[in-house]
Amino acid sequence: MARLPKAARDLVVRRAGGRCEYCRSPAAFAHQSFSIEHIRPRVRRGRDSAGNLALSCQGCNNHKYDRTRGRDPVSGREVRLFHPRRDRWGDHFAWTEAGTVVLGLTPTGRATVETLQLNREPLVNLRRVLVEVGEHRPDA
Ligand SMILES: [Zn+2]
Repeated sequence: MARLPKAARDLVVRRAGGRCEYCRSPAAFAHQSFSIEHIRPRVRRGRDSAGNLALSCQGCNNHKYDRTRGRDPVSGREVRLFHPRRDRWGDHFAWTEAGTVVLGLTPTGRATVETLQLNREPLVNLRRVLVEVGEHRPDA
């Protein structure tokens, strides 16, 4: 797999504010480096263009793999996953009051929470700690 040019990688990281565009984890507190993810995977003819790239933590990237669709746990229907370039995070997700758990607000949001497992135990634990020290701002 050809590596993206540095300028393209820098643009994606800057645009994402250094956070995973799915689970919103900050790269600065991750023990593994984040990936430049192809929203539409290369194996499905996804391009290297900025409109198809997102910053993703390793966990979200691994769970997403080559998927663009997932099952909405409420309706049981298969729907498209969250698309960081076309969708607004706040339209599909919300934080619980404590700011540690991501809730899916729409079929796409719920399917993405399930498929990418946005509330993995280590993530929820990290959010709890980051809230404590004022580094997790759910509304940011
Ligand atoms: Zn993530």
